[in-house]
Amino acid sequence: MLTVEFAQYSGITGQDGSYLAELLLEKGYRVHGLARRNASQEGINMKNLRSIRSKITIHKGDITDPYILVQLLRDIQPHEIYHLAAQSHVSQSFATPDHTFQVNMTGTLNLLQAVMVCGLQSKTRIYNAATSELFGGTTTPNTMLTEHSPFEPKSPYAISKLAAYWLVRNYRDAHGLWAVNGILFNHESARRGFGFVTMRIARGAANHALNLLNSPDSSEPPLLKLAGVDMARDWGHARDYVRGIWMMLQQDSPRDMLVATGRQRTVRVFVEAAFGRVGVALRWVYGPDMKVTGAVDTNTGQKVLQIDSSLERAVEVPYLLGDSTLAREVLGWEPTIPFETLVAEMVDSELERLRKDT
Ligand code: NDP
Repeated sequence: MLTVEFAQYSGITGQDGSYLAELLLEKGYRVHGLARRNASQEGINMKNLRSIRSKITIHKGDITDPYILVQLLRDIQPHEIYHLAAQSHVSQSFATPDHTFQVNMTGTLNLLQAVMVCGLQSKTRIYNAATSELFGGTTTPNTMLTEHSPFEPKSPYAISKLAAYWLVRNYRDAHGLWAVNGILFNHESARRGFGFVTMRIARGAANHALNLLNSPDSSEPPLLKLAGVDMARDWGHARDYVRGIWMMLQQDSPRDMLVATGRQRTVRVFVEAAFGRVGVALRWVYGPDMKVTGAVDTNTGQKVLQIDSSLERAVEVPYLLGDSTLAREVLGWEPTIPFETLVAEMVDSELERLRKDT
């Protein structure tokens, strides 16, 4: 059993943070997490951590506050730091660019600098959550991105993450920090935040299924609104990806790596899989320009989905697909959870949640 003291320094309450905490507990780590206060009764967002709350130590604090980081690093002296805290929503970053930079860029700088100030350079390994959004996507489908592909960030989120990526490289080169960037492609789960497109689709399918049960003749069924259905992503399962994150910190020397499934699917395929999970087949509706404008339930004829251009990002990232050969060869990492299982898990958990709420 490993007895490494571990600080999951930031982002523990989020999707990846909670799965990673579970994995590390299984491996025998002692887990410390930094979590910011919110207005809930518990003071912090605990929805993803309930089952392991008694096994981890939570420290209240914010990644934008350098003093708390120095204080905690001095006290805990961690062997490994997983830096996951972020304003992680791309569309939101257009509305709150300053906040996004404070958290994603300055927060990363605070952490790296705190490691230096505490003299932990030779003791502590650091993982930084970089993202496929650094690439800005490709304009043609099925174009594989690798660690050598050029970066062309297209949102304040991606630009702040690119600055954090370069900070990590710079602290590694200039100060000898053992720090890596994990360039992770989209990964989802039943713990995905509610603002993200995959979770909105899963909820939309669950909503429609429950509505069919409770008020089958409803003339106004719940309508799922999306910006479009042609965008394509390389979607994996968060549980697989946090294993990749852990593996990255077990390398002999720090090397940045990309984690992806190597399979690309459109939003449209995600929608069909999610509604298929609740037994609903869709018919797509097209406008005069042959673009999808919505979708109807083939059984009931009810309109269940509508394209709403007001939801479009200011600048779109059309296609993202990753080649994770390096992670597969060097770390032995492989995705294990199929796309269909991922979608089913998300829809089922939304069904359960909505049933509890009604
Ligand atoms: P989530 O949005 O689920 O989690 C983000 C975490 O950061 C939450 O715990 C949140 O706390 C915390 N946080 C936000 N602001 C602060 C702050 N100022 N101080 C301290 N904590 C803060 O993201 P994921 O788990 O999905 O992603 C983890 C990381 O990986 C993020 O950095 C994300 O950008 C990156 N990433 C994610 C990908 C994905 O597809 N999921 C793809 C590539 C990269 P709270 O609960 O209070 O909101």
